Amino acid sequence: MRNSGTPLGTLQLKPEHCGNIMQFIDEVSISVSGGRGGDGVVAWRREKYVPKGGPAGGDGGRGGDVILEADPELSTLVDFRFKKHFAAESGKNGGTSNKSGHSAVDLIVRVPVGTLIFVADDEHGESLLGDLSESGKRLRVAKGGRGGLGNQNFATATRQAPHYSERGEPPQTSELRLELKLLADCGLIGLPNAGKSSLLAACTAAKPKIADYPFTTLEPQLGIVRLGPEESFTLVDLPGLIEGAHEGVGLGDRFLRHVERTRVLLHLMDGTHPVERILADKTTIEHELEAWNPELINRPTIPVLTKLDLPEAREHLAELRTLIPGLATISSATGEGVRDLLYAAFRTIHTTPLPRVIAPEPRFHLAPKVAFEITREDGTGTFLVTGDRVERLVSMTDLDNEESVVRFERVIAKLGVEKQLREHGIRTGDTVRIGGYEFTYTESQIS
Ligand code: GDP
Ligand code: MG
Repeated sequence: MRNSGTPLGTLQLKPEHCGNIMQFIDEVSISVSGGRGGDGVVAWRREKYVPKGGPAGGDGGRGGDVILEADPELSTLVDFRFKKHFAAESGKNGGTSNKSGHSAVDLIVRVPVGTLIFVADDEHGESLLGDLSESGKRLRVAKGGRGGLGNQNFATATRQAPHYSERGEPPQTSELRLELKLLADCGLIGLPNAGKSSLLAACTAAKPKIADYPFTTLEPQLGIVRLGPEESFTLVDLPGLIEGAHEGVGLGDRFLRHVERTRVLLHLMDGTHPVERILADKTTIEHELEAWNPELINRPTIPVLTKLDLPEAREHLAELRTLIPGLATISSATGEGVRDLLYAAFRTIHTTPLPRVIAPEPRFHLAPKVAFEITREDGTGTFLVTGDRVERLVSMTDLDNEESVVRFERVIAKLGVEKQLREHGIRTGDTVRIGGYEFTYTESQIS
């Protein structure tokens, strides 16, 4: 069957009553970056009759965060196909007379309700960062850097004129994977070839691929069924339900996740098959659903026998009706039974509450962060100090300023870096590299 007949006539659906086909882009990768903090500055108080006052360099402003917000008006992640990088603005640098720089506003990125956010990590895989399941819910995905401190902050009793300030903190950046579980009223399930795409094509404006061999559509297809001006619902074809899907065999596991968010399921069975096979296939699908999520067994489900226009499908009708209570029978080719089925689905949708959203377990866990790590380059006297904390410290230090370098080395020593370098066998004359900063080690240089 091709989608060229006139099944719409039977349903009395007019073209303007039909929604557009929507291709669900249900998974995207994006990168997000907060804004850098503004730099603190070195400045001096200027007062009348005072040649040079105390330090008065203002702090830098905070960089903006990147925040994702669940927006009920969005229904796909399609926009993220074209825009994948999101960066908040940097904070402004501090001013003179102790004036702080302005903080940047946060960047709000809108995502559909129901978006799951996973954060990627090259070494450790990924973990679930959040589930924006309610309208208006927000999640910070990249923190802006704090502003650097101006020289006014570094004055002490013994050092009244500090000639250095801190640079702004570099922002957090991360690679995210967004995943959208479809929120559809009604889902079509059934083995390949059962007639799911044909039914979707017969009662919505969607134009799914229809093949006369077991064919698995890769993307869930969604259409809108409009029975009347006030009576419409979304119908989604959830292909890929094959045996072993819940174990990740084939593509099924991706689609099973979508099933969780539908209110009513139509379970389609190929009516041209022998009775035993129909029952066995039915059990297969039910086991798949149950194995994925035991709650799905209680989801309202209407069993549907398809292809009723074919004689083979009519042969065992009476027997199947007694074996499968509540069995609906349809032909997408002629439209027979389709309207009744859609009304039954519509009624069930309106008596069924929205299912609870089940967030998946994170697939991997991130390893705890360490303050720093030391590695020795093979066969050389170069030691590499890596780690979030030390690298951030380097990038906040004005390396052209001797005083601020001295302060940097003091902080590094406090973290225990030198102690560990010695344990790694460092000697005078060896090179230490931290971020973009390199220096030659001399015994108790940084103590
Ligand atoms: P899916 O794999 O479940 O999406 O099944 P399809 O909708 O692609 O249908 C599989 C095959 O069955 C195709 O060759 C369709 O033309 C055919 N088919 C589906 N529904 C009907 C129907 O109501 N009557 C007849 N005669 N063939 C149908
Ligand atoms: Mg199909």
